[in-house]
Amino acid sequence: MTDTALTRRRSENSHQKTWHIYFGDVHVGTIGTRAGVPKDVDQWGWHLGFYPGTEPGAHQSGSAETYPAARDEFERAWLQLEPTLTEENYEAWRRSRDWHAWKYRIWGNGCRMPTQNSSGWSTCFCGEQIPIACETHIYSAHRGIGA
Ligand SMILES: [Zn+2]
Repeated sequence: MTDTALTRRRSENSHQKTWHIYFGDVHVGTIGTRAGVPKDVDQWGWHLGFYPGTEPGAHQSGSAETYPAARDEFERAWLQLEPTLTEENYEAWRRSRDWHAWKYRIWGNGCRMPTQNSSGWSTCFCGEQIPIACETHIYSAHRGIGA
């Protein structure tokens, strides 16, 4: 890509070409082939916006004939959106990412969420006692777990 600091990662789906677009470590949008559309319409679609962090109303999307054309449109939309974002926007997304990764790790390790215990406490897979309001523990002890 150009000088927008965006990077792309290919998704694992082999039936459909999908690029996840990242700004740093934040997944800000997607560019991919549109599944099941007729041959005579735009074959590529793009979507810009992430949640949580940006409001669904601020998201933008479109379609184009080719990947480079879709990428150009995406970059233009990004250059409009990016100046409106602050570190808080990205942080909201990172926290959600880490929260979900942590929760899956808890389940995967056979641990219980504090809400599942009548005491309201549980033991994290790292060994620490965690209360129902366990966000502080996740965001300090397990920051970046979902990266
Ligand atoms: Zn822990």
